[in-house]
Amino acid sequence: MQPRLSKKAERWEEKLQAYLDSQGLKHSSQRVKIMQYILLLPGHFRVQDIAREIQSVSPGIGAATIYRNIKTLCDAGIVRETLVDQDGQTVYELLDDDHHDHIVCLDCRQIFEFHEEEIENLQNSLTQKMKFSEAQHRHVIYAHCDFLRAGKTGAKAKSARKS
Ligand SMILES: [Zn+2]
Ligand SMILES: [Zn+2]
Repeated sequence: MQPRLSKKAERWEEKLQAYLDSQGLKHSSQRVKIMQYILLLPGHFRVQDIAREIQSVSPGIGAATIYRNIKTLCDAGIVRETLVDQDGQTVYELLDDDHHDHIVCLDCRQIFEFHEEEIENLQNSLTQKMKFSEAQHRHVIYAHCDFLRAGKTGAKAKSARKS
């Protein structure tokens, strides 16, 4: 099945094109392939995982090329480093306008998103109290999943994200 680019992915494609033009970088076919693959991903990813998949389709693309292109996507403001997992691997995701934080499951390595207004407000007042003005924050909880322990899927935890 050949997946189609969503509206969102089309916007990112434009953004990427503008960034590459502004930097005088070429739209090489390898770069396009890697970027399109990432743009179609549903959520969070580790370079190692996508490298395996990209290389199964296009064996000619080396891991270094993939790393370099993800760096370019970060520089272009399309992808961001979102957290470091329990194995010290960087997890990336497409930048999106809604702020959210993460729970990493220590059992299955899946990543869940949450947005909790109360936590956000507390963080804001703490920052102000300490005389800082926040530029950004990352809040990552590393945890064991009750659903997995009960032999069920993490579907319920996933749906906890308010959008
Ligand atoms: Zn937050
Ligand atoms: Zn996320």
